Parts: sequence; structure tokens; C-alpha cells
Amino acid sequence: MSLVVVGSVAYDGVETPAGSVERMLGGACTYISLAASFFTEVAIVGVVGDDFRSEDAQLLAGRGIDLAGLEHAPGKTFFYSCTYSADMNERTTLRTDLNVFADFEPKLPEHYRRQPYLFLGNIQPALQRSVRAQMTAVRAVGGDTMNYWIRETREELLATIKEWDFLLINDSEARQLSGHSDLRRAAAAILEMGPRTLIVKRGEHGAVLFGPQGHFTAPGYLLEHLVDPTGAGDCFAGGFFGYLAGRREAVEDPRELRRAVIYGSVMGSFCCEQFGVDRFRTLTRAEIDGRFQEFREFTGF
Ligand code: AMP
Repeated sequence: MSLVVVGSVAYDGVETPAGSVERMLGGACTYISLAASFFTEVAIVGVVGDDFRSEDAQLLAGRGIDLAGLEHAPGKTFFYSCTYSADMNERTTLRTDLNVFADFEPKLPEHYRRQPYLFLGNIQPALQRSVRAQMTAVRAVGGDTMNYWIRETREELLATIKEWDFLLINDSEARQLSGHSDLRRAAAAILEMGPRTLIVKRGEHGAVLFGPQGHFTAPGYLLEHLVDPTGAGDCFAGGFFGYLAGRREAVEDPRELRRAVIYGSVMGSFCCEQFGVDRFRTLTRAEIDGRFQEFREFTGF
């Protein structure tokens, strides 16, 4: 086992122009771990209620994901629902019922603590810190956050990301966190806050990696049928960090970092092809590598 992932495990209700699903498996931890499981061994930390279906646990276990850190608490699983604009670039949250997630206090099983890679999905910065503190031999830490934590718990967040090697956020969050509207200045200011590498996700427009070696821009993959963008950012994170964890020593190598950005983009794009996590039921490593190759071809000049 090598990568520990922490975050929400949820049921989601999603409405997009392609259709709607009232309740399906979701959550940042779920998406990150499924995407990462194609590249490395993964163990998750999260909480679910007594309504959590065994077939959903089996989907994760079937991909080799260690569920020892998935706590079962009395009550209902976190529920989130949203609706998308006609071009699917804007998402409106309809409901966020924290349920058992409200009292979540992540506790790492003993065998998780010695693992070398840690990815902290979007949860309260204080909880992210507490998980980081439980890891005894970590080689690289990556994490995500959101506008709510940037606004409401800024000092706590700054103390938290200071200890990270990788920060993955979207462009509006990068602007909000830095106070700069142009992305290059925003990135420079964020790199001063601690993380060695920053990845700014730009939805359908791709992603930019900023680090000591300058920046690297990857376009978005042009999908023929966009069905449901929920989880795409988390799948990017899972593909990116899962690839690095699978390569073990690669976290410093600028070429490997670029490949990781492309694998992140590949996993984000597959996620959008079906509702929820459905695309991961059939996805193969050969399809992933095929799309990675397509990126090579359509960006080569
Ligand atoms: P993404 O589309 O990558 O931003 O991820 C969407 C996933 O994040 C959904 O499956 C939700 O269940 C989960 N999610 C939404 N809001 C929150 C929140 N406040 N805290 C943790 N997870 C959330």
C-alpha cells in the first residue's frame, strides 16, 4: 500500500443537461481513490452512515482500495446535490447534508501511518492537519481546498498548506487565496505560502502546474459527450497524485510532474463521460494510456 486518501464519501444527487440521478455514490475521497487506484495502491480514511450500501463498498474494494480507515457511524451518509448550467460550466449546490460527516474525526489505522504518500481531500483544514500529524514517514503530501475554507478559516488554512508539497485548486480559488486576479501572480504568491508545487485546475480549459522550474500548461480533453462533470477535479487529483505515488521517487522530477498533470487530465475527462463513478466500473489502464498518448499527439508541434 502506498497512498492514503482522506475526504468525503457521499451520496450525491446530480442534474445535468444529459439527465439526472437522485442518489448515487460520490464524495471527493471516493473519486480521488478510484482514479488513483489505476496507478498505485490506495487506502482511504472517511466516514459513512448505516445507509451505506455494501455494493458501493464492493466497488471500492474491487479496485483494491483498503477500507480499514472507512468508519461506519450511526446515522446517514453525507448527502450532496447539485444542478448544472446548460454548458455545464456552472454548478449550483442544492443541498449539503453533512449527517455523519459533521462529527468526523479522522483516525488512521496503525498500518496507514507509515505510508509514504498522503492526499488530503477537501475537508476542514484543521482535520487535514490532524491527519498529516498522524503520518510518521510521509514522503509527499498533496491536498485540495475550497472557497468556503479560504473565506472562513483562512489562518488555519495557511498553517495547513504550509506543510504540503502539492496544492491543487481551481482558478477562482487561486485568485481568492492570493488576492491577485492574474494567474501568474496568484501562483507566485501561493508558492510563497509553502507548497512546493501548485496545480491550478481550469475545468474544460485544462490545468497549469507552477513550481520551482516554471510552469507547464495542459489543455483540457475535448470530450464528444459530456454527461456529468461532478468529481472531475477530484479525479484529476487522483490521477495526478496516484501517478506520482506509483512512480515512488518521481515527485521531484519535472518531466514526471508534467506526465502526472496529463494523467490527471485523462482521469478527469473519463469521469465526465458517465454519471457519478460509473465510468470507473469498466475503465481499463489500456484506455487510460491510449488517451495519454492522444494528449501527446494533439499537443505535439
Ligand atoms: P468535484 O466535482 O471534483 O468538486 O467533487 C464533487 C464531490 O465533492 C461530490 O461527489 C460531493 O459529494 C463532494 N462534496 C461536495 N461538497 C462537499 C463538501 N462541502 N465537503 C466535502 N465534499 C464535498
